Amino acid sequence: MSEIMIRCPESGSEISTGIDCDSATFRFLPFLVSHAHCPICGKAHIWSKSDAWLSDAVPVLSPKECGHSEPGAGGRDCPQ
Ligand SMILES: [Zn+2]
Repeated sequence: MSEIMIRCPESGSEISTGIDCDSATFRFLPFLVSHAHCPICGKAHIWSKSDAWLSDAVPVLSPKECGHSEPGAGGRDCPQ
């Protein structure tokens, strides 16, 4: 079982939502919006599935970071 992770918009750090989820369940999650208390900045962050990834997966790189130059790098498809 993995945890659903999001990125803190204040610090840029990865934080756990505290929600356990396996990859099969995560794939079929509805695009609901939820919130998580952030241990880094102490605020509550709103997140949706598109912002989240599983703790055992490589985080999705932003288009700016990946530059589309290395297809398949990190084992995850570029979101764009
Ligand atoms: Zn935060």
